[in-house]
Amino acid sequence: MSKFELSLFDNSADFFEESVRQAILAEKKIGSWKYAILFIVQSIELALKEQLSRAHPLLIWEDVDKPGRTVGLERALRRISNAELAVVTEVETRAINQALRWRNEITHYKISESVRNLKMNFATLAGFYLDFVRDKLGIDISGRLPAEMLSELSLIEDYRSELINRARKRMDEEQICPALVWQCPECQANTFVIDNDINCCYTCGLKEAVRQCGFCDEYFFGWELNHYAVDLHTSDTIWICDNCKKHQDHNENFDGDWDD
Ligand SMILES: [Zn+2]
Ligand SMILES: [Zn+2]
Repeated sequence: MSKFELSLFDNSADFFEESVRQAILAEKKIGSWKYAILFIVQSIELALKEQLSRAHPLLIWEDVDKPGRTVGLERALRRISNAELAVVTEVETRAINQALRWRNEITHYKISESVRNLKMNFATLAGFYLDFVRDKLGIDISGRLPAEMLSELSLIEDYRSELINRARKRMDEEQICPALVWQCPECQANTFVIDNDINCCYTCGLKEAVRQCGFCDEYFFGWELNHYAVDLHTSDTIWICDNCKKHQDHNENFDGDWDD
């Protein structure tokens, strides 16, 4: 018999993926907000539990002396702050508490809220989730999401500023050299970091190979370079940029005399 199994974190990542999908859908279909909110709250709750259980397996229970019922989101948040396992900012705490109220309304009653508020809140929550999972759980969630999902989210204006601000904050914290940050070819934000061979966009998570041109030593995205045969006998090849290729082609095609 096949068995349905999901680890604590996989369960969280799964809810997150679905919440982002619903938030993107909500741009066209307002009813998707219901699921976007329910799922993002669930994904955060499970991620906090994952961190608590890593710190100590008993911390996942509401009453550590009586394993049985798992800890709720509010208490998990308090426990994490008290044990100094993570810093949750005032803005994030407020966003989580607001989302919790919406969840209660959705699951037990009814909801009436402006899309503007829902969106602003979702942006904070999604940003919090991405940072928390990366910094506290050491997991690169962008690699687990369907390709282009985060870039699609980052192209929606209200999410864009939140995600770019968090990317900038992360670049500051990691003391990334500004000269080694490019515009991302996917989400267009100036947050594609090539410092330390990171080669990743901090806004949308795009990873791209970056190489040096074999002639001029400038750096380029891998797909911008051309294969070039340096020695036709040994078939040794290097990567060169368009500019250097133009020069090379020109020199090869030039078979006339050098006198002017
Ligand atoms: Zn990007
Ligand atoms: Zn070159």
